[in-house]
Amino acid sequence: MKFYITTPLYYVNAEPHIGHTYTTVAADCLARFYRMKGYDVFFLTGTDEHGQKIYESAKKEGLDPGELADKVSEVFKNMWKKLNISYDRFIRTTEEKHKEVVKNVFKKLLENGDLYKGEYKGFYCVYCESYVNIEKEGENICPDCKRPVKEISETSYFFRLSKYQRQLENLVETTEIVKPEFRKNEVLNFIKKGLTDLSITRKNVVWGIESPTEEKYTIYVWFDALLNYLSGIGYLYNNELFEKYWSPDVQLIGKDIMRFHHIIWPALLFALGLPQPKIIFAHGWWISGKEKISKSKGNIIDPKYYIEEYGVDPFRFFLLREIPFGLDGEFSEENFKKRYNSDLVNDLGNLLNRTLNLIDKKFNGFLPDVKSDENIINFCENVYENYSERMKKILLSDAIEEIWKLVIYLNKYLDEKSPWRENSVKAEETIVSTFYGLRNLLIFLKPFIPETSEKMIEMMGLEKKEIDKFENFRIIYPGRIKIGKREILFYRKK
Ligand SMILES: [Zn+2]
Repeated sequence: MKFYITTPLYYVNAEPHIGHTYTTVAADCLARFYRMKGYDVFFLTGTDEHGQKIYESAKKEGLDPGELADKVSEVFKNMWKKLNISYDRFIRTTEEKHKEVVKNVFKKLLENGDLYKGEYKGFYCVYCESYVNIEKEGENICPDCKRPVKEISETSYFFRLSKYQRQLENLVETTEIVKPEFRKNEVLNFIKKGLTDLSITRKNVVWGIESPTEEKYTIYVWFDALLNYLSGIGYLYNNELFEKYWSPDVQLIGKDIMRFHHIIWPALLFALGLPQPKIIFAHGWWISGKEKISKSKGNIIDPKYYIEEYGVDPFRFFLLREIPFGLDGEFSEENFKKRYNSDLVNDLGNLLNRTLNLIDKKFNGFLPDVKSDENIINFCENVYENYSERMKKILLSDAIEEIWKLVIYLNKYLDEKSPWRENSVKAEETIVSTFYGLRNLLIFLKPFIPETSEKMIEMMGLEKKEIDKFENFRIIYPGRIKIGKREILFYRKK
């Protein structure tokens, strides 16, 4: 049982923004979930460091492109550390190993006849690092980002994308590779309009991997970047690793890079004779005031602010809880605060406090030695099943919703049984059952808010490692547990 998950490589011309953190936190959540399920997980992320845009950004800052790449990839690493991202490998496209793989793939495709030399005449958008068709003659504007594009006319190597038209159609129609489901038609329509071969070298770009051909061209940055999913797990140099994890189980991307991932990438794999990824999931965008968040629009949301103001886990929680994974969502501090206060402070924080206070006051800090209520045990089983099913379908916010049914159930259970009353019946059973439910709740929540789960578990007098695996959730604690030291994790925000 293995699980190979990837994020796109992030371009080092800018520091991590909300979009990068969104993809990466979601991938981390899935990686953690599968580890807790007992899978052997490989989680790959990293930085994309070549191309004209990097070269130009570096020049503007008076740096070498290599220096810029070093600097910014470090910023990404630090952000992932802060956000508790549990990646197994952070790949950089300037690594020798990766460069070797890209050159060898190029050679392989050339030998197979999948690459050929031709003349490229057309337009290139440096900002999008993409060959584009302009909409109006004479108006050299990128249809995607609306920036001026460059007209290019040069000898280039082409990848025979058109050759794979039928195979791609069939792949998209008959497998789960395009997710969410509603994106399928968009991809199919694009393929059916007819695919044209893709220029994959640039003549006058200096910052990139050199083509292994007589003419020293530079390999197109997307061709270079996509191959990280292969080079990141040892393709052509570490067979054992590669055989173990190939192919990807889930690849997360933003919806703006679907064409590269749902069309070019699978076509490259067809050309290499490799099995296809199982799911390539395109998530939506965070918008702010009805527009996509981007540097150029000046409506950037700084993840650092939310991490400092509210904490790492509330930030992770909000990203994954607020909108269904796959759709666009509005990011505002107002929504953030609302979610934080209602879910984390009121529901979860209060449940923990109430339970531990009761154990403190009524039983001197020791958990009574009685059995848990069967109803709670069954309820937990149910939640676990529904939650797991949604996680497997990458319905992350639905998965939290399932978990929250348990939060609500336990709070209500406590209210109804009122074990704090003098004359309450079976107060011991009520406390033990709530404790049992709470412990399971923290196991289920761990992929989303790992640090909080562990802290809360310690407050309950249990050990962190007890919630490492889902299989532990059915274990019912015998004997007397002494609850631990308490602290407030979520302060109400006004
Ligand atoms: Zn553009």
